[in-house]
Amino acid sequence: MGLEPESLAVQLEELAKEFMDSPGNFNGNPAAQEKAFAAPIFGYAQGSDPVWGTFKKSVDPDYLTPLEAFNSEYPNTPVVLDHISVMVFVLPQTEKTMKEQNKATKILSEGWARSRGSHQRVVDGLALHLKKNLDLMGILSLVPDHLEDWKVFPSASFQLTSKWSHRHAGFAAGLGTFGLCDGLITKVGKAHRMGSIIINHPLPVTVRDYEVDDYQKYCLYFNSGTCGLCIKRCPVGAVTAQGHNKHLCSDFLKTSIPYIEANWPDMTGTYGCGLCQSKVPCATKIPPVRVSKKAAAACGG
Ligand code: SF4
Ligand code: SF4
Repeated sequence: MGLEPESLAVQLEELAKEFMDSPGNFNGNPAAQEKAFAAPIFGYAQGSDPVWGTFKKSVDPDYLTPLEAFNSEYPNTPVVLDHISVMVFVLPQTEKTMKEQNKATKILSEGWARSRGSHQRVVDGLALHLKKNLDLMGILSLVPDHLEDWKVFPSASFQLTSKWSHRHAGFAAGLGTFGLCDGLITKVGKAHRMGSIIINHPLPVTVRDYEVDDYQKYCLYFNSGTCGLCIKRCPVGAVTAQGHNKHLCSDFLKTSIPYIEANWPDMTGTYGCGLCQSKVPCATKIPPVRVSKKAAAACGG
């Protein structure tokens, strides 16, 4: 008999916490044993949730549903759609990194550079740690980033996109909604990295406290007509009232390589920025809704 969904979720979360307390979560600082990320939070969605189909319209027709991703990895394994689940994890930046990054104005801090440089290793390490343990339990799973045909490609609506997005998976799994600068605002804010794993076993669904078409619910710019601080934090104008310009952002990110290599030579080739994810009200929490004076006046307030 299979495990109860809640029991499997508890085991997976314990395994994740175990990994995040291990050297696998080291930020690579040669001068100190520092964690790359703080304690994770988790969300779960069912593969049969109609939200996945909406991403084919809102993101790209090539966006994979969990079932399509599963069939691509295990083409000869019959599956029951209701048994396919997606576990999403959010790895928040540490308090130390946030303190450093909040002081940065033109270019990223050391802590942010180190978490940026180590995030793929940590996210992969955690996802593979979960997969290895699921294998031992006899439960099939897959890490979407490792799918053979996973790739980033140009998109009409998003400039650049891929066949799987951890942020959209997080949205599906009740973890948060999108902000003006594209980050997913969760209960630990948007200063984080994310990962996900598709599992052929039922897991308890995390209830979304937002409608699928209210996908910017937690951003003050959209819910109150206020804030816009991520626009001011961006040194190159890549965030505007029209949203996030990925090309401008990505070009600026690359310019940080010589700065990082000159200051922290052990981080060859690392690049990053993250200024729009720090010193803003949604950096480490869902910001409480503020009503602008203009909106209050319009309501007679
Ligand atoms: S900084 Fe303000 S406008 Fe930008 S995403 Fe956060 S809440 Fe929205
Ligand atoms: S990461 Fe940096 S360059 Fe990119 S949008 Fe944010 S502040 Fe601008």
